[in-house]
Amino acid sequence: MKEARAIIETALKEGRNFLLEPEAKELCSLYGISVTRFGVASNLDEAKKLAKEIGYPIVLKIVSPDILHKTDVGGVVINIKDEQELEVAYNKILANVRKHKPNARIAGILVQEFAPPATEVIIGVAKDPQFGHAIMFGLGGVFVEILKDVTFRILPIEETDAREMIREIKGYPLLKGYRGTEPTDEDALVQMMLSVSRLIEENPDIEQLDLNPVLAYSKGAKVVDARVIIGSSSK
Ligand code: ADP
Ligand code: MG
Repeated sequence: MKEARAIIETALKEGRNFLLEPEAKELCSLYGISVTRFGVASNLDEAKKLAKEIGYPIVLKIVSPDILHKTDVGGVVINIKDEQELEVAYNKILANVRKHKPNARIAGILVQEFAPPATEVIIGVAKDPQFGHAIMFGLGGVFVEILKDVTFRILPIEETDAREMIREIKGYPLLKGYRGTEPTDEDALVQMMLSVSRLIEENPDIEQLDLNPVLAYSKGAKVVDARVIIGSSSK
């Protein structure tokens, strides 16, 4: 896909081997992956304007080619409810970044829709030198970090593979719904994984992709943070 290639080529031309969050989310959108609505502001007034268009509550994040983990530098403020809070958060993020990473280049402030809390899952892709790309699925947070409750398949995958992956993790009952909690929309997760498979198939120079977290709702699923690392152009 031409638009997808353009995003990747722009990053490479700028000497980056990774996409900024807005670029990664744009790429995801092109493949039908649902992401939080967003825009990038270069000053406070633009941020206010974007917030109004997107609708409160919103989230602000630092966009910088020198910052990969935004939370580590105080670069993320979530659940901002009005213009007054936005102004405080905007200045706070810039002050935090100045303090923690004084030399970081700032490409803008990302304004995005606040996604209400839900079950968090992770969809990831990594490239193995021997087997090629593999896709990973798991529940977010402690489930992946401590319990390593994740599952893998070599790409490309088909619908049955995606469904199997979701159902074989130990934490599946949490997705299926328990004690009256609503089941999550399994089909939405299946579709998202198939879209990721297509995205990688068409852009095999992507070395790593992390949709982390993806919020899994009873209707739909939404990517809240996306990271893409580009490797050499060999297949
Ligand atoms: P980092 O670069 O540190 O991984 P993230 O973009 O993942 O930054 O933001 C940190 C955390 O903030 C996320 O793991 C998620 O829990 C929360 N978060 C980020 N964006 C949103 C959003 N749009 N809606 C709701 N929660 C969000
Ligand atoms: Mg993240």
